[in-house]
Amino acid sequence: MAIKLDERLEKIYQEVIKRNPGESEFHQAVHEVLETLGPVIGKHPELAEYKIIQRICEPERQIIFRVPWQDDSGQIHINRAFRVEFNSALGPYKGGMRFHPSVYLGIIKFLGFEQVFKNGLTGLPIGGGKGGSDFDPKGRSDDEIMRFCQSLMTELYRHLGEYTDIPAGDIGVGERELGYLFGQYKRITNRYESGILTGKGINWGGSCARKEATGYGTVYFLNEMLQARGLGLDGKKLVISGSGNVAIYAMQKATELGAKVIACSDSGGFVVDEKGLELDRIRRIKEIERQRISVYADEVSSARYVQEKSIWSIPCDVALPCATQNELDGHDAKELVENGCIAVAEGANMPTTPEGVRLFQQAGIAYGPGKAANAGGVATSALEMQQNASRDSWTFDYTEERLREIMVDIHRNCYETAEEYGMPGDYVSGANINGFLRVSDSMLAMGL
Ligand code: GLU
Repeated sequence: MAIKLDERLEKIYQEVIKRNPGESEFHQAVHEVLETLGPVIGKHPELAEYKIIQRICEPERQIIFRVPWQDDSGQIHINRAFRVEFNSALGPYKGGMRFHPSVYLGIIKFLGFEQVFKNGLTGLPIGGGKGGSDFDPKGRSDDEIMRFCQSLMTELYRHLGEYTDIPAGDIGVGERELGYLFGQYKRITNRYESGILTGKGINWGGSCARKEATGYGTVYFLNEMLQARGLGLDGKKLVISGSGNVAIYAMQKATELGAKVIACSDSGGFVVDEKGLELDRIRRIKEIERQRISVYADEVSSARYVQEKSIWSIPCDVALPCATQNELDGHDAKELVENGCIAVAEGANMPTTPEGVRLFQQAGIAYGPGKAANAGGVATSALEMQQNASRDSWTFDYTEERLREIMVDIHRNCYETAEEYGMPGDYVSGANINGFLRVSDSMLAMGL
């Protein structure tokens, strides 16, 4: 099913599989990048001479540790946590922490690998890393979440530092979890080092617009893709998967720009309302009450809750996958295209399977891969680091405007790189090549 690689790249890919057995998501992420590097290795023989691609595929450091914690009934649980410090050629390791039962080393490596290119693409001085745990926060009390975060940080703190490694949130890790993590770091070290973590609350070193950044950024990127085709968001019908931070703020920005969001989801199913979804209600249900999205359909008579079908079966102009990896497969992609979808921008990391990506590209629709389209989150984390380093805090409007400029730049860089390498409109190649060249150039400069 996958695109055939150039012979030299296939050899590198086979080595990656051999060194990382059983890590299918990591293999997928590596293959997807290697598919686009053929024209680059032709132009740059020094990459092979210094084994740059092989070095990029191997994390600089991988930390695996035990996290013991006690639940409210006094029972002891043991989870496993990870921090993969993937590449520091462009800056300290930067990337989120994911708490989800599906987490294992292969997931964290795929996310860390993606992060290296994504962070490179932002043009900001951040390397790539990722972490997480197989801890399942679902149904856990505040106290249990706190005890888990404290135990995790009791080990993780020794690996962090504003010049070393700076985690943030991801699936299952938001401001609440980051607060408990930061509190434990401060307690252990007796130092108020705001720069060791991003996504913090506004009163304790956080940045305005960080919470909104991934969702807003995805819509800014989408808007640029549409404008490049002489189109706009006004009047467009959107389907957005997920109902977390990314989906909620994508919904908000898209609505502000004139679009109508008709469906969103959580892990149980999706809600659809052709009249358009009410953002405030979704925020109350998901952010404040931490309830299932099905509650929305209980409250609004024009909405339906659907469990037996995929959210991508709902006809729309634009699809924004903002939930999780491999949530949109070949079948979904085919259905979207047949139903007239003209653009897809990924708020999640690697949400479309390789077959799905291929179908979007063959259909010639505007397809923005996560590495580019969701880079606004980590870019605003870098803005938070700037504010922490200068003991400053910027206004919401100023920060959002910086985010918007960064997304416009990322779009332009992807677009121009794709043109330069003879693949106009191919944002996958544009993003991979542009991100790769920034990292490889710095690695070459710094020697072996
Ligand atoms: N988890 C987010 C991502 O996938 C944000 C990472 C960060 O802010 O460091 O890019």
